[in-house]
Amino acid sequence: MKIAVLPGDGIGTEIVAEAVKVLNVLDLKFEMETALVGGAAFDAHGHPLPEATLKLAMDSDAVLFGAVGDWKYDTLDRPLRPEQAILGLRKNMGLFANFRPAICYEQLVGASSLKPELISGLDILIIRELTGDIYFGQPRGRRVATDGHFPGAEEAFDTMRYSKPEIERIAHVAFQAARKRKAAGFEGRVTSVDKANVLETFQFWKDVVSEVGKEYPDIALDHMYVDNAAMQLVKEPKRFDVVVTGNMFGDILSDEASMLTGSIGMLPSASLNSKNQGLYEPSHGSAPDIAGKGVANPLATILSAAMMLRFSLNQAAAADRIEAAVQQVLAQGLRTGDIYSEGTTKVGTAQMGDAVVKALR
Ligand code: NAD
Repeated sequence: MKIAVLPGDGIGTEIVAEAVKVLNVLDLKFEMETALVGGAAFDAHGHPLPEATLKLAMDSDAVLFGAVGDWKYDTLDRPLRPEQAILGLRKNMGLFANFRPAICYEQLVGASSLKPELISGLDILIIRELTGDIYFGQPRGRRVATDGHFPGAEEAFDTMRYSKPEIERIAHVAFQAARKRKAAGFEGRVTSVDKANVLETFQFWKDVVSEVGKEYPDIALDHMYVDNAAMQLVKEPKRFDVVVTGNMFGDILSDEASMLTGSIGMLPSASLNSKNQGLYEPSHGSAPDIAGKGVANPLATILSAAMMLRFSLNQAAAADRIEAAVQQVLAQGLRTGDIYSEGTTKVGTAQMGDAVVKALR
């Protein structure tokens, strides 16, 4: 089992170190190799995704990724910015399916800005298509400069497109995920989110998802416009089971869903290709405001490592153990600053990682 470890920038190095600690106490043999990515790679090699890093990622079964980015790179030409590393990895590895579970841990019900009864027991899965849509449309950005600011430009545009095979494969991923969840006691419903009332691309999306849905008669399918979905996520989030949507809507809705549970510091994510090779990372960014202070919450990254074991490394039992250990430290009342509330014990990044290791042992 070969894992490429790419900590990246900001809190990336701190949180990935804790996930590696956790992986190292499992009774499993991993080959882990670390490489620079993002701003750290730009500083050292002049590119956010050096050839050697990309090769390591492509040659591994899975990538454990921290986060990239810092405001100090905002003046660089767009292709050299840290965030391009993520796009490059997604594109080169063909990571088309992004899984973002939004699970509300009972111990953290009070950390959400929603009423406890709305989110208690919440466990939904957002599946975002990751390599198509307006983020990868052609042509895009006819402007006058490359530094991202374009003084004097009169207009800019990006095109939205999806091909039938792109929609079919993400729809299959969603229906299969719903089927697996149904076997574990969930409702067995896919909600496909679109904007078919306005956009041709999403009428097509809706038609293709409906067609694929016929192959899964055991799974209920409904369709929802994205504006309504954004509203329903805060009004009645537990009405969802699996949500599937395009790249841009998924980007926005998955961040919205992540905040339902209280802290973005708790939420893992997985991006998979058709061979189940995957990139696993927390849903949050590099948090430059708290980098180097030892206060970042490492649990999203530790839970991402659990997803990695389950989806790419075929080690579901080890993944279950990590998730149970995380529940245990929360039950013990340990909290990093982002999820802290009165009556609980505030701990730093390394202490939280150590507590998970102890619970595992
Ligand atoms: P962010 O997610 O980094 O931070 C938003 C807020 O959440 C900050 O106040 C931060 O302190 C807090 N936060 C995030 N993760 C936390 C954790 N684990 N524990 C405690 N608090 C946490 O988003 P941002 O500030 O908009 O972006 C910062 C940088 O990250 C930018 O350069 C952005 O481009 C980049 N970014 C990278 C990724 C990625 O690597 N996949 C994703 C999003 C943003």
